[in-house]
Amino acid sequence: MTKKFISYGRQWIDKADIKAVLEVLKSDWLTQGPMVERFEKAVAKYCGARYGVAFSSGTAALYSAYLATGIKSGDEAITSPLTFAATSNMLAMLGAIPVFADVNEDDLTIDPKEIKKKITKKTKAIVAIDFAGHPCEYDKILGIAKENNLLLIEDACHALGAEYKGKKIGSFADMTILSFHPVKHITTGEGGMVLTNNKNFYEKLRIIRNHGIEKKPKKGGWYYEIAEPSFNFRITDFQCALGLSQLKKINKFLKKRRELAKKYQKELAGIEGLKLPVEKNYTKPAWHLYPVRVAGDRRKFFDYLTKNRIGAQVHYMPLHMHPFYQKKFGYKERDFPVAEGYYKKAVTLPLFYGLTQKDFEKVIKIIKNYERKKVSSL
Ligand SMILES: *Cc1c(COP(=O)(O)O)cnc(C)c1O
Repeated sequence: MTKKFISYGRQWIDKADIKAVLEVLKSDWLTQGPMVERFEKAVAKYCGARYGVAFSSGTAALYSAYLATGIKSGDEAITSPLTFAATSNMLAMLGAIPVFADVNEDDLTIDPKEIKKKITKKTKAIVAIDFAGHPCEYDKILGIAKENNLLLIEDACHALGAEYKGKKIGSFADMTILSFHPVKHITTGEGGMVLTNNKNFYEKLRIIRNHGIEKKPKKGGWYYEIAEPSFNFRITDFQCALGLSQLKKINKFLKKRRELAKKYQKELAGIEGLKLPVEKNYTKPAWHLYPVRVAGDRRKFFDYLTKNRIGAQVHYMPLHMHPFYQKKFGYKERDFPVAEGYYKKAVTLPLFYGLTQKDFEKVIKIIKNYERKKVSSL
């Protein structure tokens, strides 16, 4: 029998979730029914935002948010290279230019000083990423956005439930993006959402989600117009039923993630050559990921974990190192030394609601053994 594989992240589905989905499957509405709006309202309320618009994925939500701002070909948006590709891919899909700014060495979120250096006449927006669930420096970033008349878009796909200065993320930026992929805090299978306090963005987002269709009931019940064509980015009702059921568990999901982060800190803090994530005192991170930095041969440590059935990951190779970003925008290696320095040492350890004490202890033991055996010192 092969030994159990402990992945770096995974969903938690219980009986109530299954029941909620089954009920919708037996109802009249599989899609475009009442569950979508109920889910949107519940998430928006939880995050303290006025409006939520649910999408078929976090990526579709990002694309739609960018489109709603009016960012177009040739415009620039300043963003971090240390994120999942979708953050910048969706700018590129609109013909816009992702202008990278390096990250803070400690919390790995975008460095406000670097943002300032990158502002040009073409800059339209700042896109900030709450890396690993740790909020960015929003007072500083909002100040820069205001001073320079830029929109702020927050990719909070790592950060549902995270707090900045005592307030949940979801209403700091002009638009905040969430993902409900199975490794994220709550899941709808695939799914995403844009949160906003701006009615104009809210209305645009709903049109973008649905082919560009604008209903004009004054001209008849059937009547609609297309001003700009768009995609079908809708999410289904049974997915939103799952999302609603998952959202009921968000507090215990977050509690467990924060407990695990604390336990890692307690168990691993003394190990030489291992650098653990920081938690700035004005934040309460949501800990989507637990990315550590290892001294020495990262590949060797990573392979050692994999061999021992621990599904470590690396989040992420910075985007300026990908062929597309180098060819299209002229980025090259060493352009963003902090992000790159982190990447070369990065390993994400398992952290998710269903991680048992036994499995957690196994992870700790295997890491400690690595050091003892001096496979290579950490
Ligand atoms: C997960 C994620 C996305 C994309 O979300 P999907 O729902 O997988 O499309 C975007 N940005 C970041 C930072 C993410 O972690």
